[in-house]
This record gives sequence, structure tokens and C-alpha cells, in this order.
Amino acid sequence: MNIEVPSQQVSVLAESDVLVCGAGSAGIAAAVSAARHGCDVTIVERWPTIGGMATNALVNCWHRSDREKVVIDGLVEESAQRAAKQGWIRQVAHFPRAHETHWFEPEGMRMVWQRMLDEAGVRCLCHLTAGDPVLEDGTVRGVLVDTKRGRRALLAKIVVDATGDGDVAAKAGIPFDYGRESDGLVQGMTLVFALRGINEDVVRTTPHKRIHEVIDRMVELRKQGRMAPFNEGNMRGTFTYWGAPNHMPWNVCPVAGNPLDEEELSRLHAQAHEHVVRYIEFFRSDMPGMATAAIEQTGFALGVRESRRIRGLTTLSVEMVLGAAKQPDAVGHGVWMVDIHDPKGSGHTTFSDAGDHNRLRAGTSYHIPLSMCLNPQVPNLAVVGRCASSTHEAHSSVRVQTHCMVMGQGVGTAAAMALDGGTDLAGIDVGALQETLRADGAYIEDVPKSIERDK
Ligand SMILES: Cc1cc2nc3c(=O)[nH]c(=O)nc-3n(C[C@H](O)[C@H](O)[C@H](O)COP(=O)(O)OP(=O)(O)OC[C@H]3O[C@@H](n4cnc5c(N)ncnc54)[C@H](O)[C@@H]3O)c2cc1C
Repeated sequence: MNIEVPSQQVSVLAESDVLVCGAGSAGIAAAVSAARHGCDVTIVERWPTIGGMATNALVNCWHRSDREKVVIDGLVEESAQRAAKQGWIRQVAHFPRAHETHWFEPEGMRMVWQRMLDEAGVRCLCHLTAGDPVLEDGTVRGVLVDTKRGRRALLAKIVVDATGDGDVAAKAGIPFDYGRESDGLVQGMTLVFALRGINEDVVRTTPHKRIHEVIDRMVELRKQGRMAPFNEGNMRGTFTYWGAPNHMPWNVCPVAGNPLDEEELSRLHAQAHEHVVRYIEFFRSDMPGMATAAIEQTGFALGVRESRRIRGLTTLSVEMVLGAAKQPDAVGHGVWMVDIHDPKGSGHTTFSDAGDHNRLRAGTSYHIPLSMCLNPQVPNLAVVGRCASSTHEAHSSVRVQTHCMVMGQGVGTAAAMALDGGTDLAGIDVGALQETLRADGAYIEDVPKSIERDK
């Protein structure tokens, strides 16, 4: 059934040079860099606070190294330095010999990023969901938001879709892909949680063999359908590698479904809570040192890894990722592996189960091109973060936060240059963009002179 909605006059809540929709890692980087380069910037976020998956879903690990050296800098490095001053981030012991380089406190990173937005003069509108885009003559003029006081418009010369789900771009009619080719399913989601009440001394001094035996029993129960699914690799790692301390985010609880269907998402979120309770009941009875374990916190939101991938001027492919492909319009580097969490929610991942062929060779990295954030349809609309243009497999690498921030910084800076020069986003001088990004601390090396753009 459809109903008619009467047309209405809508008053303007904000008018800016750049409107960023979504305040996750990608959107924050876009907003801060555009504002630092002289733009008047508004950022609109549907949740009460900023940070997206990194803060509100408790996803707190960064990947910055090609396993020999750090190749992701710029706003990522600045965020790390600011967090380090407050004791909110720690470098891993084997830095920089693993892709993973840092663990941070989600609450701390939220503060770091909020201060960066405030200092840059970005106007933050949380509690507001970017709704329908306002389109005029093939360009986007802004988006509509439903406030408690009625519908309002947010207008801008350039709009950046950093919603993770590509909400604005999809509603603007830009084609997108969803899921893997074989069955259209997207990667599984995860409810991250933190625990308290663990006797850390007992866990740390229990032989690994004994801990693995307990997890083996969990695996057996799961096979019999008497235990909720869990990510076995991360579960073992949390105990034996990360030491299972209290208060640490546990990334082990998978669920599968469509993150664009709110009703399904509501059901899955509740189901994930049941899974977590089931693990804890088992830990309390069977795992040494965990007799009084309890839930301290669960992610405010279910962790969504993948939904729409908005088709851009260039689509990042798995060959580009694993082949460490270089791009003439690079805005930075990517290092992470092909890391697919089973779209059916079993908890299996290519990270822990698929071996080395899913990784880039140590010492190599691929380029993240500006053109994966731009599209042929709407010249003043860019897409940054996990909804930018990639295949399902390449997405599983480029979706990580540091890579999303590379895109954000690149596009935010490009937006300022486009407005300065009176050009479209795609019309800016890419060499000048790269020079500006480098001057702002970004790492961009090995840029080839020319490669045909993947149309
Ligand atoms: C469980 C889990 C574990 C992961 N592990 C790691 C890891 O170890 N390291 C790593 O780097 N990455 C990891 N990732 C991936 C990474 O966290 C995300 O891909 C990344 O944070 C995406 O950043 P983003 O800014 O593109 O999107 P998000 O962080 O999703 O931010 C999008 C923001 O937009 C807002 N929004 C959405 N729709 C609208 C709308 N219509 N209007 C206004 N606001 C809107 C959202 O509320 C959110 O704040 C993991 C992801 C998950 C789910």
C-alpha cells in the first residue's frame, strides 16, 4: 500500500559549504579536513554521539602498517597522538611488524574526535538522520532531516555521504552494489561487548592448553546446537593473545542479516544479546577465573561491516588490493587483508581461517584512489568510508577505520579545493591535492604518472 504525502514548505536549519552526513571515522576526517581548509562545515549524525562503529559499536583496533613500516598517517596519526597524551591508546608490542598497530579506548577516541571537530569549527548536529536528498539540475542541494520541531533542510554546495550505508547517495539515485556475487549476502555483523568481574591473574596464569580445551568444548556444544555461534579465532585470541582482561571489547558474537532492514536489525540485536548471555553462563561455570564474569557494556549499536557499496568512477577490486595496485589519484594507502566474516553468521572469518593468501605481501600496500569516492551521476556528492566503491572482497579490506579516514581526509581536502577553484570534485588538480595532503601529514608514495581510470 502506498499513501500520498503532501508537498510542504521546509525551513532551512543550516546552510554550509560542505555537509557531511554521518559522523563515523570517515565523516569526521572529511569534516575536519574540509573545515581546516577554510570551509564552513556541518556534520549530521543520527546517533547521540560521534564516532560511528569505532566508538558506539566498540570497535577499537587500528591497522596502519604494511608489516614493515607505518604507511597511514595524516589525521590518523594526529588522532593517535592526541589519544596517547591522555593515555587513551596503546601501540601493540610487535609494532610495526603486524598490520594491527593500536588499540584505543572508544570513550577516549570519541573525545579526541569531538575536540578536533570543535576546534575546526564544524557545526555538529547529532540526533538527526539525513533523509531524502534535495536534488536540483543533476546536483544535490542538501538533505532533509526530521527534527523534533518538524522537517528542516540542510543545504550545502558539496555533500559527503559518510553514512556507512550510502543512504544519501542511494536515495540520490546513484547505482550501488549489495552483498557478494554468489548470493547477495553481506558480511556478518557483530555485537561487541565488554566484561567485568574476571579474575585476571587466574586467566593469565592458566595454561593456554587448558583454556583451549574449554573453548574446544564450546565448539562441540555449538556443533550440537547447544551454544550460540561465536568467532572461534577471536575467542581463542582474546584469551591467549590479548589476555582476556576485564573491560576489553570482545569481538566474538556474530549475527547475519540485512543491516538496511530496521525490523530485522532490531531482532538481530536482541538475538545477539542472548548469545552474549549464553557465552557468559558457560564461562562462569567452565572457564578458570571467570566465575563472577558479568556484562559491563555492549555496543550501543550492532557492529555493521557491510551494506551498500556505492558505484564510483573507480571500483576497488581484490586484484588491486592483493596486487598492491598504485593509482594516479591516490589519497593514501591501504594495508589490511581480505577479511570476510561469514555472511551466514557462523563466526568463521577469512582473517582467522583462510591463511596467508588473503594478505598483502609484507612491505607492500595498495593505493586508495579519490575516484572510488566520486561518481558519474552527481558531481557535488562524494561517498567516503565503508560505502565507497569496491567489490565485496576488496571492501573487506578497505572498510577498516584507518582506510576510511584516508578517504575522508582526501575527500574533505578535495572539497575545499573544488570550492576554492570553482570546479567539480572530479575536476580538481589531483597532483595539487596530493601535495596538500602530504603537507598535512598524509603518507602518499609511489604515485604512477597515469593509469586508465576504471570507468
Ligand atoms: C564488529 C566489527 C569489528 C571490526 N573490526 C575492525 C577493526 O578491528 N579495525 C578496524 O579498523 N575496523 C574494523 N571494523 C570495520 C570498521 O569499524 C568500519 O568499517 C568503519 O568504522 C566504518 O567507518 P565509516 O565512517 O565508514 O562508517 P561508520 O563507522 O559506520 O559511521 C557511519 C556513521 O553514520 C551514521 N549514519 C548512518 N546513517 C545515517 C543517516 N542517514 N544520517 C545521519 N547519520 C547516519 C552512523 O550512525 C555512524 O555514526 C569492524 C567492524 C565491525 C562491525
